[in-house]
Amino acid sequence: MITLEDLPAIPVFASVPAEDIARLAHSSGDVRLGVGDYAVHEGDERSMFVVLAGRVEVTKVIDGIERVIGKRVPGQIFGEVPIIFGTPYQGSYRATEAARVMHISARQFHALAAAHPAVLTQVAAIAAERIGGLKGIATAPPKARALILAHAADDTAQQLRTFLGRNQISHDWVLPDAADRATRWTGPALADDELPALVCDDGSLLTRACCRDVAEHLGLQTRPHDGTYDAVIVGGGPAGLAAAVYGASEGLRTLVIEREAPGGQAETSSRIENYLGFPTGVSGDELARRALQQASRLGAEVMVTRTVAGIDPATKVITLDGGDSVRARSIILATGVSWRRLSAPGFDRLLGKGVFYGASRSEAGTTQGQDIHLIGAGNSAGQAALFFANHARTVTLVVRGDSLAKSMSHYLIEQIRGKPNIQVALHSEPQALHGDKRLDSIDLVDRASGTVRRVASGGVFVFIGADAETGWMPEAITRDDRGFVYTGEAAARSGRWPMDRDPYLLETTVPGIFACGDVRSSPVKRVAAAVGEGSMAIAFVHQYLAHAGSAPAG
Ligand SMILES: Cc1cc2nc3c(=O)[nH]c(=O)nc-3n(C[C@H](O)[C@H](O)[C@H](O)COP(=O)(O)OP(=O)(O)OC[C@H]3O[C@@H](n4cnc5c(N)ncnc54)[C@H](O)[C@@H]3O)c2cc1C
Repeated sequence: MITLEDLPAIPVFASVPAEDIARLAHSSGDVRLGVGDYAVHEGDERSMFVVLAGRVEVTKVIDGIERVIGKRVPGQIFGEVPIIFGTPYQGSYRATEAARVMHISARQFHALAAAHPAVLTQVAAIAAERIGGLKGIATAPPKARALILAHAADDTAQQLRTFLGRNQISHDWVLPDAADRATRWTGPALADDELPALVCDDGSLLTRACCRDVAEHLGLQTRPHDGTYDAVIVGGGPAGLAAAVYGASEGLRTLVIEREAPGGQAETSSRIENYLGFPTGVSGDELARRALQQASRLGAEVMVTRTVAGIDPATKVITLDGGDSVRARSIILATGVSWRRLSAPGFDRLLGKGVFYGASRSEAGTTQGQDIHLIGAGNSAGQAALFFANHARTVTLVVRGDSLAKSMSHYLIEQIRGKPNIQVALHSEPQALHGDKRLDSIDLVDRASGTVRRVASGGVFVFIGADAETGWMPEAITRDDRGFVYTGEAAARSGRWPMDRDPYLLETTVPGIFACGDVRSSPVKRVAAAVGEGSMAIAFVHQYLAHAGSAPAG
């Protein structure tokens, strides 16, 4: 409990009589922070703190990196902006040395301010000043962390751009033949065969750059920090990130291995309308960004640009591309599904050059004022149509069947009807895609009449379903005839379960190896299901480790 003697001089409370301060101190929270402990996180609900001892720094995630934007010492307050403006916290507050802070709830603060209006005036003045500081941060032109030099039709550079976007790293692209190249490109003159090239924010130059090199130069984790983990999660989509959040928060040494960037398929969704707690929907990249921050903050390691190539079911040693390995006490497979490819001439050649899988928000700019085509009739195609309709001149949904109603939710069909620039081409499919360096037109065949018409197209986005890519998994992990992994009762029924006890609900036919999300043999393919299963998997990991008598990794 805090007493008057514990309090340093607190200028904002100068007008408050000692007995009222003593009462406030007595009823406030007495929070002790070790080095690195957070008093409060960005996004938390309003309240106010007074620093009694130690030092606290203010951090904010800007451009994917946590930056320190201020500090507080004894006698100073924090939380003035949330408490005055009724907003969530705009930054996080972390002790840089052992600290003690007094936590004042919003109700306590307003009771004090009602009795002593000078407190309100003072705190409001500090809040106004701080808002000025935040405005400065918001209006400072963002400095890109990476500068790419590449031709517009360069596939590798397109992949780099998507990779940087998915890792929330700001970047600029300079074309080698651009008129302003000399002023924008900070690196040396380079020959075409050295492109794509990239200058990172530390000044380093990468030529013929690939995602792995870029990840390493920009400080993303590409190697495990330890040799053994309690839980290794393969795949960083919603299921994998949920497992990481629960695993790390429950004290398990947790590693996520992701072959591209965190987010999974959800990252390619322009708007997820049905995820609980987001009444106006949430974009896949926003959901992924938050989940990644949460998993990292709780202590999970998230490795990117590494593919799991094999698992030894007997030792649970995981082999990565390039031959590195890591040992796991338990494994969670959260590898989801991969988009089904479109088998039309021109498709593979133009992939990334106007032709894409899914509907990443980062492609919105490229569709501005264009006539574009979305292939597919499911909810993903419907959501993407609504999203791109705000950017493209026209959006045509190319549908094999005779109606959308068989495969798309009613609410999406209604919204599509309300958008005059969305058209639906029924009984249609793409027969060929054309373009030299970039897509310029497609041939659409009318399946009823067989007529083919060539139409100009500024973008083709494909949504024709997805398959599990589980061929690399060992035989011992039993899968259904489409490659989806059996768990729980299905694993027991497969006749390949080796133990006397029943498998846990999400356990595969190898004890201690679990599967969750879209890769699991189950009819449900949804973000909420993936997140729920990822969280549940950790509960089973605990039970498995306790059963196996295996103590958590130190
Ligand atoms: C365009 C679109 C819109 C959608 N809209 C909605 C919606 O509105 N509502 C909804 O509920 N659902 C929606 N979904 C479905 C939802 O996104 C999926 O159900 C969910 O992402 C499944 O999560 P997951 O973690 O199981 O798998 P995924 O999201 O597929 O993630 C799997 C991850 O594993 C990685 N990986 C795969 N193999 C390996 C390997 N060998 N080594 C390392 N990493 C590997 C992949 O790179 C990927 O990042 C949509 C999907 C799409 C594509």
